[in-house]
Amino acid sequence: MKLLITRPMTDAVEARARARFDVELRSATTPLTQQEMQRALAEFDIVVPTLGDQFSAGLFAQSPNPRCKLLANFGVGYNHIDVEAARAAGIAVTNTPGAVTDATADIALTLLLTTARRAGEGERLVRSGQWQGWHPTQMLGHHVTGKTVGIVGMGRIGQAIARRCQFGFGMRVAYHSRNAKELDFEAEYMPDLLSLVAAVDFVVLAVPGGAETRHLIDARVLAAMAPSALLINIARGEVVDEVALIAALRSGQIAGAGLDVYEFEPKVPQALCDMENVTLLPHLGTATEEVRSDMGHMALDNVAAFVEGRPLPNPV
Ligand code: NAP
Repeated sequence: MKLLITRPMTDAVEARARARFDVELRSATTPLTQQEMQRALAEFDIVVPTLGDQFSAGLFAQSPNPRCKLLANFGVGYNHIDVEAARAAGIAVTNTPGAVTDATADIALTLLLTTARRAGEGERLVRSGQWQGWHPTQMLGHHVTGKTVGIVGMGRIGQAIARRCQFGFGMRVAYHSRNAKELDFEAEYMPDLLSLVAAVDFVVLAVPGGAETRHLIDARVLAAMAPSALLINIARGEVVDEVALIAALRSGQIAGAGLDVYEFEPKVPQALCDMENVTLLPHLGTATEEVRSDMGHMALDNVAAFVEGRPLPNPV
């Protein structure tokens, strides 16, 4: 069976892929073009795609009777794949849940602390040579310990964020998701999103992307947040209406934002770059050697199961 891996992987993952499979390793780090996706479906039995490879319903419609039978996605988020359309075309989809959880929660806390304590702005000040020394009212930020965090999407990553906030920083945890969860720590379930965001100091987004959550955080939700509150997004850019976010930051409706993901990634609006109260990371959620290897191995575990005719470990 022929396998296509659509991005360079860590050495360990590439070595396993070469040793075990008849594999083509694409060297470009950019998303597949339309033509490359059509070729992927026509010429390979299995494809390991990732973020940015838009396997849309339209693409499947243009590729009748594809040779490809498995999209073993590298990543837990698969909103770039139309899973229903893939299924209708006879293609199974898998992902890499769990491998990403702790690293992504760590980045959420990095963004929360950096934004609340003005660490990005402070770093820029020191590097600019303009720092004039400590004084009692220099660069006062938002206190974090003991505050209330509101988590939107209490899944694997949401829970890992909640634990860090509660056990690391003594925070109260409230959350919103479609259903209440059985949790092994204290957290208040708030079925109404507007009530949740109005009641907390920090709103952290950890829902999946896709049509259902597109612009979940819109002007109305941002208006319900306290003017002292911060918004942290490690989920997907499209979950936040970026125009509404810029307006809310400009008008002081909210105090700041920490973003790992963007609505039109990798484009980041200049307005956000110009704001000191915004922390901007280049989608670093899972960016460590160990985690990217774990993700790659998980994707290859799904490939191996498919090749050997075993049940897929991580179907979506
Ligand atoms: P997960 O375990 O499936 O958790 C997602 C949670 O969101 C679920 O608890 C779900 O609960 C809730 N949810 C789903 N739809 C919702 C809606 N419409 N409104 C409110 N809540 C909703 O997924 P995960 O492993 O935690 O990953 C979450 C997402 O993080 C991924 O899909 C991915 O897009 C993103 N991510 C980003 C990075 C990064 O690098 N920044 C890294 C990894 C993952 P209910 O079903 O009860 O609603």
